[in-house]
Amino acid sequence: MEYHDSEKAVEVAARVEAFMEEEVLPREREALRTQERISEDEIHEFWELAKERDLFAPQVPEEYGGQGLNFQDMLPSFEQVGRSLFGALSIRANAPQEGNMHTIEMAGTDEQKEEYLHPLVQGDIRSAFSMTEPLDGGGSDPKMLKTTARKDGDEWVINGHKWWTSDGYNADVLLVMARTDLDAHPYEGTSIFLVPTDLDGVNVVRNVGHLGGHGIVDIERGHAEIKYEGVRVPEEALLGEEGGGFRLAQLRLGGGRLTHCMRYSGMAERSLEISKAYLQDRHAFDGTLSEKQALRHRIANAETQLHAARTMVRHAARELDDSDARIEVAMAKLFTANVTNDIMDLAVQCLGGNGIGKDLPVAYFYESVRPFRIVDGADEVHRRSIARHAFDDVYDEDMENVLTFDSDLDMT
Ligand SMILES: Cc1cc2nc3c(=O)[nH]c(=O)nc-3n(C[C@H](O)[C@H](O)[C@H](O)COP(=O)(O)OP(=O)(O)OC[C@H]3O[C@@H](n4cnc5c(N)ncnc54)[C@H](O)[C@@H]3O)c2cc1C
Repeated sequence: MEYHDSEKAVEVAARVEAFMEEEVLPREREALRTQERISEDEIHEFWELAKERDLFAPQVPEEYGGQGLNFQDMLPSFEQVGRSLFGALSIRANAPQEGNMHTIEMAGTDEQKEEYLHPLVQGDIRSAFSMTEPLDGGGSDPKMLKTTARKDGDEWVINGHKWWTSDGYNADVLLVMARTDLDAHPYEGTSIFLVPTDLDGVNVVRNVGHLGGHGIVDIERGHAEIKYEGVRVPEEALLGEEGGGFRLAQLRLGGGRLTHCMRYSGMAERSLEISKAYLQDRHAFDGTLSEKQALRHRIANAETQLHAARTMVRHAARELDDSDARIEVAMAKLFTANVTNDIMDLAVQCLGGNGIGKDLPVAYFYESVRPFRIVDGADEVHRRSIARHAFDDVYDEDMENVLTFDSDLDMT
């Protein structure tokens, strides 16, 4: 499909594609064949290769060591890296690091950028975003956040309990969301803090076990459960404005949702390619499987839906470069998460036993795509936002109860 991406976007994506074909995919095939995982040292070697080709951290401004692409221009490159199980990691465009870098870049002071953004981009430190809380706290409804940060002199004291903090197990710094004004509405009384993990009171309880695994890379990542027990940070640890945590998180998530869409579209495209190649080669019931109408129609639907998803993501990325594009991003995320889930499921089915086996990347893609309908806002949460917009609802000051419905329908 021709999407009329900018010249720059197409040029960088062509170089990323060459990097994937020449360096990354051959190593991935070997790891799948031998089932020996790729070490962290090797990932650092890939970073050096990416730097030599001016492909390292394409989403980060040049002054911080990246390639300075905006959302529209990074899009086709992110689709390319999504095609490999460790493509995003190989050029340091992987979640959650990429989203955390973006957040510090948007809101950090010069000192914070010096301390965290530079080493984060270079891969010298690791970060994690710590918002979701266990059962009685903030999840789909982040207004339920229970973690607090209380001012004590020129320090903040953080108390709370989080889980699902991706990459939190080995992180050096955590971006922690906490209520800083309990009298204000959570949207106005919540802030984000940069919390080094070696501070007293930062207690990593465990990695939460989950669907899917380490993939083919031998790096302890996982999703941490963390208790913050009287953690003291200086005033300078506040990221962005006091009380501006929700607005900042929204900006982080908007971009993060789209970059996820880009990578998962790449995975879906590769899964389809592998399936089509298999169906064309595989003979059964007097012909190739690719001649069976039942499968042909499903592949046709998948191609159509993936094209629609990629088009929606392009539209939302264009809007996001100039606004928060909340509804466009919600629609693109909801649609892409479902389309890529359906396609990975179809790919597994078309490949028969090879879809379940781990000689091919498809089984790994299948495991990794299911959470996408839950993380970064579950399907239902995005439908809720889209419906609120569709009905033009007007809410009370808690943004919960509908006060009036704007309607063109004249019932009198
Ligand atoms: C792999 C993975 C990585 C993650 N990484 C991070 C991270 O780095 N940092 C972080 O802070 N969090 C992270 N999370 C947490 C994630 O953001 C939450 O799991 C998600 O927001 C849902 O919250 P919850 O688990 O509390 O589910 P709940 O809020 O309990 O919701 C459960 C289900 O209820 C349904 N539902 C919710 N609201 C509505 C509604 N209004 N109407 C109808 N149905 C509804 C949805 O289907 C939802 O899945 C991660 C989660 C996973 C699985």
